Amino acid sequence: MNFRLTEEQDLLVETALNIGAKFDPDYWLKMDQASSYPVEFFDSIAAHGFFSLGIDSAYGGTPAGMMELALSMEGLCRGGAGGGPALGYLFGTLGANILNANANDAQKSQYLPDMAAGTSMCAFGLSEPDAGTNSLNMSTFAKKDGSDYIISGSKWYITNIERSDAIVVVARTQKLDESASRSDGVSLFIVDLPNDSLTYSPIEKHAYGYYKSHMVFLDDVRVPKEALIGTEGQGFRQILGTLNPERILVAAGAVGIARLAIATAVKYANERAVFDQPIGAHQAIQHPLAAAYAKIESAWGSVMLAASLHDQDANPVEVGAKANMAKYVAVEAAIEACYQAMQTHGGNGFAKEYHVERWWREVQLFRLAPVTQQMTLNFISEHVLGLPRSY
Ligand SMILES: Cc1cc2nc3c(=O)[nH]c(=O)nc-3n(C[C@H](O)[C@H](O)[C@H](O)COP(=O)(O)OP(=O)(O)OC[C@H]3O[C@@H](n4cnc5c(N)ncnc54)[C@H](O)[C@@H]3O)c2cc1C
Repeated sequence: MNFRLTEEQDLLVETALNIGAKFDPDYWLKMDQASSYPVEFFDSIAAHGFFSLGIDSAYGGTPAGMMELALSMEGLCRGGAGGGPALGYLFGTLGANILNANANDAQKSQYLPDMAAGTSMCAFGLSEPDAGTNSLNMSTFAKKDGSDYIISGSKWYITNIERSDAIVVVARTQKLDESASRSDGVSLFIVDLPNDSLTYSPIEKHAYGYYKSHMVFLDDVRVPKEALIGTEGQGFRQILGTLNPERILVAAGAVGIARLAIATAVKYANERAVFDQPIGAHQAIQHPLAAAYAKIESAWGSVMLAASLHDQDANPVEVGAKANMAKYVAVEAAIEACYQAMQTHGGNGFAKEYHVERWWREVQLFRLAPVTQQMTLNFISEHVLGLPRSY
C-alpha cells in the first residue's frame, strides 16, 4: 500500500492550489455579494485543463481517475475558493461525465470537445419537487411521437442552467406503475439550450450567491430520437455510475473547505491578542481546532481510500460503502471545522470580510446535496451492516 502521491498528482495539487490562491477569499466574497458568476475562475480552471479530466482523449479529454478528480477538487477549494468549486465544478462536469460514459460517438463528438475545453457547460436535471431523495418518483415524462420525443414536467434546483448550452434531462419513458421495476423505464436526453419550450425561474438560496439554481419547466419540449442518451428505459442504471464519484468529489471538496477554514482560524488565533497574548495560546481555542483538524485529516484518508478503490475497479458495493462513509465523515468534520473557525474569530466570525461565515453557510449544502447524509447512512446500514432496508 503506497500512501504517496505520484509526481503528476503532486503537480496537479500544486496547480489547483495556485489557482485557488489567485482567486482568493476576497474574490469569492465579491462574487457572493454581487451575485456574480465567477467567470474568471472558471476560465482559469478551463485553461489549465480541469474540465478535461476523465473525458476520453478522443474527444479532447485527459485520462484521469477519481484520485486526480478528488485531488483537484480538494486543492481548488483549499487554495482559497472555499465551496465555490465544490458546487460549480461538480454540477458543471456531471453532464459531460454522463455523456462520456453513455453517449454514442455522434453525441460525444458534438458535445464533449467543447465541454472538455470548458467553453461549453451542461446542466443536469434530475431533481423534482416530488423526486429528490426518492428520485425514481419523478413525473417528468418523455412521450414518443413519430421519431421524436416530447418531454413535459418540471425540475428544481437545477444549477447554472442559465449558463449552459445543454442539459441532461432525466425523464420517465414508461410510467412507474407500468415498469418492470422501479428503476426501469427511465431515460436520459440531451436537450440543447436555449429552448423556447423550456423555461426557468431562480430560487433564492442560503449560500452560493454566485451560482443560480432554478425551477425548470419543460412544456412539451420536442427532441429528435438522436437526443436519447444510451438505451431507452435504462437511464437510471446509466446514471448509477456517477453516484460514487459524486460522493467522493463532495467529500474532497468538504475537506478542502475545512482545511482552508482551519488554516484561516490558526492564522487569526496567532495574530489576535486579547489579555496581552494571542488567543491561540489558550487551550480552549487550540483544542477545538486540533480536534477538528484531526477529524478532517482522518476523513481525507477515507476520501483517498474510496477514490483509490474506485480507480482499481473494486467491487461496486465496496466502493459504494467507502464512498458513502467518506462523504458522511468528511461533511460532518468539515461542518465542525467551519464552526470552530467561526468561534475562533469571535465577533469577527460573523463579519463577511473574514470569510468563515461564508464557508460555514456553503458547507451546509453538502449535508443535503447531491445526496443527503441520511441516505449515506441508509446505504451503510443496509449494505455494510446488513440491517433491513428502512424505506
Ligand atoms: C443548491 C442546490 C443545488 C442543486 N443542484 C441540483 C442540480 O443541478 N441538479 C439536480 O438534479 N438537483 C440539484 N439539487 C437537488 C438535490 O440533489 C436535492 O435537493 C437532494 O437530492 C435532496 O432532495 P430533496 O431536496 O427533495 O429532499 P427530500 O427528498 O424532500 O428529503 C427531505 C429530508 O428527508 C430525508 N429523507 C427522505 N427519505 C429518507 C429516508 N428514506 N431515510 C432517511 N431520511 C430520508 C432526507 O435525507 C432529507 O433530510 C440541488 C440542491 C441544492 C440545494
